[in-house]
Amino acid sequence: MRRYLDALVGNESLRGSLGKSIEGGALHHALLIEGPAGSGKRTLALQIAAAEVCENKASTSHPLPCGVCRACRLVLSGNAPDVTFISRGGRATLGVEAVRDAKEDMFLSPTEFPVKFYIFEDAHTMTVQAQNALLIVLEEPPQSTKIMLLSEESEAMLVTIRSRARLLRMEALSPMVMKRYFEEKEPSLLLPYQNDEAGLTAALLAANGRLGEARRYLSPEGKAELKESRDMTDALLASMTKDASFGRLCDAFGALPTKREPLAAALRLLHLALRDLILFKKAENAPLLYCESAEVADGYSRSVPLPRLLYMADRVMATVEDIEKNANVQTALTLLKCDLCR
Ligand SMILES: [Zn+2]
Repeated sequence: MRRYLDALVGNESLRGSLGKSIEGGALHHALLIEGPAGSGKRTLALQIAAAEVCENKASTSHPLPCGVCRACRLVLSGNAPDVTFISRGGRATLGVEAVRDAKEDMFLSPTEFPVKFYIFEDAHTMTVQAQNALLIVLEEPPQSTKIMLLSEESEAMLVTIRSRARLLRMEALSPMVMKRYFEEKEPSLLLPYQNDEAGLTAALLAANGRLGEARRYLSPEGKAELKESRDMTDALLASMTKDASFGRLCDAFGALPTKREPLAAALRLLHLALRDLILFKKAENAPLLYCESAEVADGYSRSVPLPRLLYMADRVMATVEDIEKNANVQTALTLLKCDLCR
């Protein structure tokens, strides 16, 4: 069977359906690619562009994109004149000027390929004005133009934009899939973890299904960051279990990150730790993901009844979900702290 867009890891069903529509000449003129940072949106966009112009597109004995023809090499190296990335630079939003410039360019003929690509990075930061400016092109697209919007949340886009683009959602990768990928493609990243299976597992779990994040956590800087967040989680866990006191809980909460995404990541790690304690309570030989050993899990959980652990884990996960759904961070944390003190 032909392999489609296979520089992208995982995402089998997405790659299959998209690859077939490109092969059949039916690629939608506007794609909204949704996924968190580090989930492969940019890789997918380049794979789509390469597949669309690949010189071996019709030859089913080649993967699509083939990766070796001139067109593929130009696109995948990031040097193709007909593939334009539009980014917000250092600014907080992607403004209307950038969209206007791109729009002017869209009406010029492509130079190298039969089709031109415009890839808008961080599309979730586009101002309403910028989105409205883009809408006109989406309604009546210039011939031979494909637009890709890379967005961390499709909900941030106007309904009118969403209704005119095909939504592609990046899938979260399992720790196993990521590990296999690194073993095959980037084994040097795993060298420092040869005798540290627990460290490797912690990095893959912290990445939360995103390959780019896993790569970051496996690096020396990421490892240090992870160590810091583990220390923080240890303190938090202790203040809720073996050393429970209101003062310690307040101190541990005070050390948490204040920004949305790092905070959600810290609470996810806490949830993972609580999950270990719950599993350990149910069966002493349960496989643990956070605690290094059964003794560690026992130390935390001995004085806490199972229903209490279940309650804490539920509350922590509900808080993560609230934070990820844009709830006020401080309010969500205060509510969690109150519930944990009960
Ligand atoms: Zn090719």
